[in-house]
Amino acid sequence: MKKCIMCGLQKSGADANFICPDCSQFAPFLQQVYREVDEKLSSPDAVVDPTSDHILQLVADSTFLTVANPQLTIYYKMCELIIQKAYKREYQISEEQLNKAIKTIRSWSAVFKLFQELDLIQVTIEDHQRIITLTDKIERMVKPFQSESLSDQIIKRHAHIYAGYVLLNILNKVAEMRVDEPDDGRLPYGQKPRTLWSCLMFVWGSAYSGKQTFSEEDLRRFLSKRRIPSTTYSEAIKALQSMSGKTVQTLIKDISIDGDQITFAISDYAFREILNLRDRARERQR
Ligand SMILES: [Zn+2]
Repeated sequence: MKKCIMCGLQKSGADANFICPDCSQFAPFLQQVYREVDEKLSSPDAVVDPTSDHILQLVADSTFLTVANPQLTIYYKMCELIIQKAYKREYQISEEQLNKAIKTIRSWSAVFKLFQELDLIQVTIEDHQRIITLTDKIERMVKPFQSESLSDQIIKRHAHIYAGYVLLNILNKVAEMRVDEPDDGRLPYGQKPRTLWSCLMFVWGSAYSGKQTFSEEDLRRFLSKRRIPSTTYSEAIKALQSMSGKTVQTLIKDISIDGDQITFAISDYAFREILNLRDRARERQR
């Protein structure tokens, strides 16, 4: 079988790696999104306002899709802890505190490596344990909000932007893979976030091609072709459906149900932002 190195789509033929047409189109777009978000968050005078910055809102909203995915939980939790600490002006976390705050059976090394690469933390060793120090990059981001009385919602929202940034970095590594050297060694835990990759490829892809709505049926088909397990799929659908109430997702503005056909409508801001990004990505390729 031929297998897409990015999404895992299989095609009959002799054993070989390939990049499927969907991924060929999506990869440069994803790289454009990552580049813009990275530039934004790395700028020395960056102020992150999760309520008014559309590209950051898009990232926070989109990665929300996999918040329940056990493979990715560690990144969300880590970001939430970092942001909570930063708001309280506590810029150091010991490994012991970390282990108390976040229960995981995974080793921290891959996460530390990634967060250091993004310049979000520094890790040093003191008294035989690792100490995580938050960088200026984090401090800079929360500073404008530190004096306000913050709601849990805002903290969650902020944490989602950083989790989105971290996950985009991993997706960007996937987007950079080449058929002749699909190097999983660059990915934390050697894992591709295939569900997130495929969901975004589909949902962003709809907007990218000028369609503001998509059907649940088409999404299901798209993901099942890529052998995404149905339980994982259900979680993503649940996230798409949770537009209000306890959650903060604003990617979907409307869901209409006609018989057993469910149609999702992408929010106006997200639709516009994706089209703008598409135009900038095309501009760049020219
Ligand atoms: Zn593919």
